[in-house]
Amino acid sequence: MSRCKTCVVGAGAMGRGIAHVFALKGHSVHLVDSSPAALEQARVAIRRNLDRQGVAHPEDALGRITCVSGTPAAVAQADLVIEAVPEDLALKQKVFAELDAFAPADAILASNTSSLSIAALASATARPERVVGMHFFNPVPVMKLVEVARSPTTSEAVFERVLQLARDLGKEPVAVRDAPGFVSNRVLMPMINEACRCVMEGVAPPESVDQVMTLGMRHPMGPLALADFIGLDVCLSIMEVLHKGLADERYRPCPLLREMVDAGRLGRKSGRGFYDYDAAS
Ligand code: NAD
Repeated sequence: MSRCKTCVVGAGAMGRGIAHVFALKGHSVHLVDSSPAALEQARVAIRRNLDRQGVAHPEDALGRITCVSGTPAAVAQADLVIEAVPEDLALKQKVFAELDAFAPADAILASNTSSLSIAALASATARPERVVGMHFFNPVPVMKLVEVARSPTTSEAVFERVLQLARDLGKEPVAVRDAPGFVSNRVLMPMINEACRCVMEGVAPPESVDQVMTLGMRHPMGPLALADFIGLDVCLSIMEVLHKGLADERYRPCPLLREMVDAGRLGRKSGRGFYDYDAAS
């Protein structure tokens, strides 16, 4: 694969993982975040995860990552920009408009969105044919799947290029049409939402709901432990997108999920969700 000048916008759980896999494959990466603290944490986490993976010379991969707090300079040379800011359409559209203004005209603008319309993000730019969904899974260095989502305006060449890039990263891309939640979250999130309902209605406590799904369905992780891992705020946003986009009451977010997010119980990242976590984990 030819080396790619990549820019990842948003250095949270996903952005740092995406930067990690690109840098490990020899690409140079600018990692952008509006929060200097997030960039600092990202660097520490990437180092730790490279060590965990047993990478021989982690400093080589780390040396290919430049952390930057402002978008314009970071994207000016990019071939590929991957946006990984929070799941909020207005925020992502603002970021896409900015990327469109500062990235080279032939750069591909990809979004790691879990559920939002790629066409709606493309509409914030003057290059809708170069906008595509590139949905990685958490933790990015470990998970093989990348859902590559094509909107009606995405060009064939851009779509093929991104599928090939994902393969070259050692991932297994699956092509999907631009639709709320694509395939992954349209299937996964209603299951998580239903698991929340079981807890809310007192059918069983979280541990038991998760046990049923791990022991009975051979899921490697129960749906509520997985929800804590993904982030309950992320799960709620995705349910809201499914509810609105598919206009069907069966996707209505569980009130308990909303209550927990309102109370700041976001899962692992806040130290408490359906389970309690050590702040350092
Ligand atoms: P996160 O909250 O961990 O990180 C988002 C980062 O974006 C934060 O560091 C924040 O400071 C930064 N940010 C906010 N506004 C910004 C801006 N204008 N410019 C630059 N940086 C900005 O979120 P996450 O869990 O990494 O999710 C990011 C995206 O990936 C979302 O669209 C989410 O739906 C998707 N996603 C998440 C998961 C998951 O398991 N968490 C899995 C697949 C896809």
